[in-house]
Amino acid sequence: MSDIIIRGQSIDGTIRVFVAITTDLVNDAQKTHNSFPIATAALGRTLTIAAIMGQNLKNEKDSVTIQFRGDGPLGNIVAVTDSKSEVRGYAVNPFVELPLNKKGKLDVGKAVGKGELAVIYDLDLKEPYCGRVPIVTGEIAEDMTYYFAKSDQIPTAIGLGVLVGTDNKAISAGGYMIQLMPGASEEVAGTIEDKVRNAPPITEMLEKGMSAEDILFFLTDGFDMMIQNQTVEPKYKCKCSQKRMRDAVISIGKEELKRIIDEDGKCEVECQFCDNRYTFDKDELLKMYELAK
Ligand SMILES: [Zn+2]
Repeated sequence: MSDIIIRGQSIDGTIRVFVAITTDLVNDAQKTHNSFPIATAALGRTLTIAAIMGQNLKNEKDSVTIQFRGDGPLGNIVAVTDSKSEVRGYAVNPFVELPLNKKGKLDVGKAVGKGELAVIYDLDLKEPYCGRVPIVTGEIAEDMTYYFAKSDQIPTAIGLGVLVGTDNKAISAGGYMIQLMPGASEEVAGTIEDKVRNAPPITEMLEKGMSAEDILFFLTDGFDMMIQNQTVEPKYKCKCSQKRMRDAVISIGKEELKRIIDEDGKCEVECQFCDNRYTFDKDELLKMYELAK
């Protein structure tokens, strides 16, 4: 099954639902970073919710960045999406190994640790807006649910899952987000809560061969749903380039650039999102020095 994001809403306008299948995308991230299973699961879940959130962006240049700044061994986890749900991300330490948790699952919560979850909206023409909440469990879905309730004040149910095989590749990955719209009753909230609580993990539904639509209708059974015709294919895609990296190096300032020119005579920068390397030789650095502040 190839990657897809679909969205639907109830005819009475009380709920809005997104379902994403992201197996290929998560495998592209895994291949890029050579990550071990815990990092693949943690980053895969974060990339999946980022891809879903991308569908709420209006302008082409809008972006959302999700940062888990936990004190666990994975270090920071970062995922960025644009309005086309083209995502990129990394975990600082992708080679973490931990014993399975009490449920026999990858211990993502422990690997992420305690700390802060920041969500940064960079919307066209406006100063970036950043919402921050404490990390609740580090399991990603619970934290994002808490974020939406606290920071955005939108009651939201989120399920995210990445099933990793013995070859370190994702067997299946996906997620869903159900949001209550203004005016939704307590009863609707209760119904959705029950459904999500009793639903099997999304990876299990995918393993059974359920399509994104099957999952959407399963989660909203009892509601009259409309599915939007337009479907989206989320992708793992870095946006770095020689020019972007050059601008980033220039932004470190004259003083620091002078130190690099004097001490090293060249500069090599690696993109954290795709591990591409960019080198700048002395001539280039001198030109960049002129442009720096
Ligand atoms: Zn890159």
